[in-house]
Amino acid sequence: TMKGLKGKNVLITGASSGIGQAIAIRLAQEGCNIAINYRKSLEEAEDTEEMAIQKACGDINNCSVQSLPIQGDVSQEADIIEMVNTVIEKFGSLDILINNAGIQKECPSHELTTADFDQVLGVNLRGAYLCAREAIKHYLSQNRSGVIINISSVHEVIPRPMYLSYSISKGGMENLTKTLALEYANRSIRVNAIAPGATITPINEAWTDDPEKKAVVESHIPMNRAGTAEEMAAAVAFLASDEAAYITGQTLFIDGGLTLYADFREAWS
Ligand code: NAD
Repeated sequence: TMKGLKGKNVLITGASSGIGQAIAIRLAQEGCNIAINYRKSLEEAEDTEEMAIQKACGDINNCSVQSLPIQGDVSQEADIIEMVNTVIEKFGSLDILINNAGIQKECPSHELTTADFDQVLGVNLRGAYLCAREAIKHYLSQNRSGVIINISSVHEVIPRPMYLSYSISKGGMENLTKTLALEYANRSIRVNAIAPGATITPINEAWTDDPEKKAVVESHIPMNRAGTAEEMAAAVAFLASDEAAYITGQTLFIDGGLTLYADFREAWS
């Protein structure tokens, strides 16, 4: 287990599936109390809760890890303020925020509507900022240390045609991470990000469930395979823990080598 996580209060956005779910489960195993934000499905959030408690304690009725499914749309400022306040009220405080909620839309950039552009930025970037803002207000008002971890993407640095709004949101997330890290470094608030490569989660249903398409995706990855949500969660646990006490403003790429210019694996001539 990672140093300093036991008993910490965590809010994970979009935690009812994929990487967010794996983070909730891993942090519960590390002894954190977990607030599981979901937008639509309470049932999915409760499934996540059950898996997390099961893994953390075995016995659902006798577990020191607290859990709280909490509804909220991170594109809505009022939802975020209420969500953060509720978590603080129920857990007593907040120590760690994980900005994980994210969406993508595929569309040629010259046909992208203003509404779709705004929606992706509203969830992925503005939502992450507003959650961070509310968390930081709390950390400062209590004069307590705090952690924020943003779930970015390799598209923080790799341009992605047909996914302009997604690429922009993750590119912006790099500077969100760095600016907040610098601004609050002397207040004991650490802000970092992870940048997953191709990861097996519902957002990638289009190729993860199709062996041929999956092989094409994996052929571009130096380690020849997609990553798992658990591999992402392990890095989040590290960055959230006191083992990473001197790390701030960084994005850790977890991508099987995807950002290493895979085309250079073999000599070109
Ligand atoms: P996912 O679709 O399973 O998870 C996204 C979650 O965000 C879902 O639970 C969804 O309900 C939630 N969400 C969407 N809009 C929301 C809103 N307005 N308010 C609250 N919650 C909302 O996919 P995932 O792969 O687990 O994605 C998690 C994060 O990881 C995203 O930020 C994504 O961009 C990032 N990421 C994923 C991959 C990958 O290959 N899977 C790669 C790089 C980055």
